[in-house]
Amino acid sequence: MRLKSIKLVGFKSFVDPVTVPFDSNMTAILGPNGCGKSNVIDAVRWVMGESSAKNLRGESMTDVIFNGSTGRKPVGQASIELTFDNADGSLGGAWSEYAEIAVKRLVTRDGQSGYFLNGQKCRRRDISDVFLGTGLGPRSYSIIGQGMISQLIEARPDDLRSTLEEAAGISKYKERRRETENR
Ligand code: ATP
Ligand code: MG
Repeated sequence: MRLKSIKLVGFKSFVDPVTVPFDSNMTAILGPNGCGKSNVIDAVRWVMGESSAKNLRGESMTDVIFNGSTGRKPVGQASIELTFDNADGSLGGAWSEYAEIAVKRLVTRDGQSGYFLNGQKCRRRDISDVFLGTGLGPRSYSIIGQGMISQLIEARPDDLRSTLEEAAGISKYKERRRETENR
């Protein structure tokens, strides 16, 4: 699986719809201070289901919506769509037959929100099901945030173990077992 593009609409500083294509493997986003590099990372975490506003550097969940700037009024909603190349079928159970998988999240200022997989409305859980074990999730290691390396070095054995389980691809089986046991 490979991230092909990110579409940002009304998300933080990205008020006008913009699609960022990743035509080949990408390792870094460069730019001057305040240009929106970290906002792109926040966008990826958010669409993957991050539910803590603090982890997105805000105070409430609607802080991700463009809240105005000099000469520009705030907007009413934000959405992010990630498109993954899934030609190798490595993503997602029933979704594995799709050559592309698009994951979208939308939120409005009055607090309505929704998730979509290839245009179909779904639950947050459906998105985590697709990505569990791939290393990409709201808090998983595909995104190395500031301070994360020292956190790992200082982590308690239990926390370190969950990172290793995600890397080894067994976290999804543990999650399924947990669900079965709770039924
Ligand atoms: P640095 O190099 O300093 O880390 P950066 O490129 O990572 O900078 P970001 O933190 O991504 O920068 O972007 C910060 C900009 O995004 C600020 O100008 C801030 O005002 C703007 N911003 C954040 N949230 C919103 C919002 N909800 N509406 C409008 N602008 C926002
Ligand atoms: Mg930054």
